[in-house]
Amino acid sequence: MDKRVPITLAVIAIIAVSAGVYYTTQQQEEKNDKLVVVASFYPLAYMAEQIGGDKVEITALIEPGVEVHSWQPSAGDIINCSDADVIIYNGVGLDTWLQDEIIPSIDTTGKVIVDTTQTVTLFESTEEEEIEEHGVYDPHTWLSPYEAKQQAEAIYDALVEADPDNTDYYTTRWETLSDKLTALDESYTTQLQGKTKTTIFVTHDAFGYIARRYGFEQEGIIGISADEQPSTQTLTDIIDLMQQTDTYTFYIEPGYSDIYVQTVKTELETRTGKTVQILTLYHLNGPQGDLDYIEQMENNLESLRLGLGS
Ligand SMILES: [Zn+2]
Repeated sequence: MDKRVPITLAVIAIIAVSAGVYYTTQQQEEKNDKLVVVASFYPLAYMAEQIGGDKVEITALIEPGVEVHSWQPSAGDIINCSDADVIIYNGVGLDTWLQDEIIPSIDTTGKVIVDTTQTVTLFESTEEEEIEEHGVYDPHTWLSPYEAKQQAEAIYDALVEADPDNTDYYTTRWETLSDKLTALDESYTTQLQGKTKTTIFVTHDAFGYIARRYGFEQEGIIGISADEQPSTQTLTDIIDLMQQTDTYTFYIEPGYSDIYVQTVKTELETRTGKTVQILTLYHLNGPQGDLDYIEQMENNLESLRLGLGS
């Protein structure tokens, strides 16, 4: 990594902290007594909003729908973190810019800082390049209801720690969210039980936690970090595997390029004479039209059910 980056950020941080003090006095009246919460990205902000309701003021640093894997923080992100009572991040190498660059450059006195995957049982990426570039573990915990519930619980604990006076309020709302995620986990289990296919084929390897929990495999074109170019060999392997497993569904994610998917579709259709259907699996990194995080999880289940033949 470029050694100048931390120094630059430190300088920005000094400016930001001074600016932050100014903003705080300016905005104090508007904020009332709300707990100021900053989350790295949408799924965590969504959970904090569900639990925190009108007792919290939430900012997601990464704009909804923007690619999370290659995000670079700005001075504005440092100001937001300086002003926050609670800072929430995913961990597992996804938002290292928050963990390694922003947090060490701000005054964290009195702040509650939460790594939401601390209690999640992580699993390792099997691809060597990804191990070198992004650390060993798969960061996509928020896509699976079971792991997401553990992340939500970490957020609930943080809100209670930062604002114990409103414990009852947070507890009631946490129980509602927890029930929804438990119900979703049960629906995934039940509805995918009768599946006739063993593997899903996806643009980007984001569904490892879902695959592991509900008993199938994922094969991706561009891996876990979503910023790679697939080799011709990778594409050929995927087409071979789809043919061998008699699978004619490919999943795309909004926001990720589908040019390679079109190559796979055309080649497989030419080879086999079958029609390849393209379905959507959301990465859940922003609302999609009217669909919030939970509703997108429901849609993902429906797409999985169709593609896995259950
Ligand atoms: Zn991803």
